[in-house]
Amino acid sequence: MLNGQKIFISGADQATHMMVVARTTRLRETDDKRHGLSLFVVPMDAPGLELSRMEIDLHSPEHQFFVFLNDVRVPADNLVGTPDGGLRALFDALNPERLLVSAWAIGLGDHALARGVAYASERAPFGTPIGSYQAVQHPLARAKAHLEAARLMLYTACETYDAGGDAGGAANMAKLLASEAANEAIDAVVQAHGGTAFDKESDIVTLWPMIRLLRIAPVNNEMVLNYLAERVLGLPKSY
Ligand SMILES: Cc1cc2nc3c(=O)[nH]c(=O)nc-3n(C[C@H](O)[C@H](O)[C@H](O)COP(=O)(O)OP(=O)(O)OC[C@H]3O[C@@H](n4cnc5c(N)ncnc54)[C@H](O)[C@@H]3O)c2cc1C
Repeated sequence: MLNGQKIFISGADQATHMMVVARTTRLRETDDKRHGLSLFVVPMDAPGLELSRMEIDLHSPEHQFFVFLNDVRVPADNLVGTPDGGLRALFDALNPERLLVSAWAIGLGDHALARGVAYASERAPFGTPIGSYQAVQHPLARAKAHLEAARLMLYTACETYDAGGDAGGAANMAKLLASEAANEAIDAVVQAHGGTAFDKESDIVTLWPMIRLLRIAPVNNEMVLNYLAERVLGLPKSY
């Protein structure tokens, strides 16, 4: 029987099933706080499962939801992995998620940059395109270099993952670099558009919330840096 609630569940209205991590052994009954969590597949039409839509200020194809679980019965067959060993199964899914989010960030960065370059090439208030000014060119060029570096890191991480290796370090580096490069790109593109970026019809500043979000979700970049500090550099855990 599952009980609890969770905010920010994307696309819950479109899903047929949901993965739920639930504590199945009390924290005080185990020495290792990572032990005692189990992973379940829960059908969205299970009695006791309710959704409530959140109001999120973001242009996105899916909506976000509060999910409430009140005495939701889950058959034993719906357990993924071993009882109390759900974190291991969950962590197996996190590297592909990092890779997906990196590709998402790079794609958005590429799109924003292409829009910025097109605008800077056309906009010529005094007869000279603003894209000919180095103050406009350099931030766009820098963002391009950082997007390409992030793309290479993503490919390295994908190759490691596909080869069955430990992709944790590379996947986290790709997520960090890709989300930062995309944010650098949209910032340069907004600047190159000047006031036009805020004209709703230009659809430029509207790109910013989604790109900015990728520094926070599905994992914030500070947690990514924590992972790299501890798991890649071998520094002591900070939290
Ligand atoms: C649009 C949207 C969709 C989402 N979809 C989903 C979904 O489908 N499923 C799901 O499970 N979740 C989803 N989330 C939740 C998302 O994963 C979290 O918002 C994200 O992981 C950050 O957690 P938090 O919001 O609890 O921030 P907090 O943990 O409260 O952290 C706030 C800030 O504090 C800093 N911080 C936190 N911890 C540390 C630390 N240890 N060291 C240094 N700095 C730290 C970071 O800067 C962080 O941004 C979604 C969120 C949004 C906004």
